[in-house]
Amino acid sequence: MNLVLLGPPGAGKGTQAKLICERYELIHLSTGDLLRAEITKGGDLGIKLEEIINAGKLVSNEIIIEVIKKFINSNKKKKGYLFDGFPRNIEQAELLHTLLKSINQVIKCVLLIDVSNDILKQRILSRREKEGRSDDNEETLLNRLNTYITETTPLINYYEQIDLLKKIVGEGEISHINQRINDAVEEI
Ligand code: AMP
Repeated sequence: MNLVLLGPPGAGKGTQAKLICERYELIHLSTGDLLRAEITKGGDLGIKLEEIINAGKLVSNEIIIEVIKKFINSNKKKKGYLFDGFPRNIEQAELLHTLLKSINQVIKCVLLIDVSNDILKQRILSRREKEGRSDDNEETLLNRLNTYITETTPLINYYEQIDLLKKIVGEGEISHINQRINDAVEEI
């Protein structure tokens, strides 16, 4: 079984991804984690990636697909993948479809952890007010949220149209959100 996890920065995707992978014995494929590992390795690519990520922008589709192919080729056990942070736009969704088809796999469903943009912005801004400063992290977070709104919203519509999207209310306790996810996966 392959699942896709979508949601804006700050929606709690990382926490839920861990729980989902434990329950369904999936391999967690987080493109953010893979890119950060690439940065830690250093080198020209690492420096380039760090600049893009710190600016809250998206890394090119070519780099992303390379990183994913490399990961899939060396992680083939378990019962499938949980794609977290990928795809982020329609072109990446089409690349994922092709990639899975080549290994006779499909996506079972796309889970969207839904937290309204207004609430996410409020969270970021209230943290800024409490700490009394505007630092790079908050700027990056706001930029990432804006990137998500512009780049990923069309992807949500795309998955809705092909009937793969499951919207999960992303507010409330972690365990409640997780239960909603399990219910959505199991009702398919
Ligand atoms: P994440 O940990 O998923 O929030 O990703 C952190 C950063 O890595 C993002 O803000 C992007 O700059 C970059 N990134 C992660 N996944 C992708 C992707 N699928 N396509 C392009 N850039 C990505």
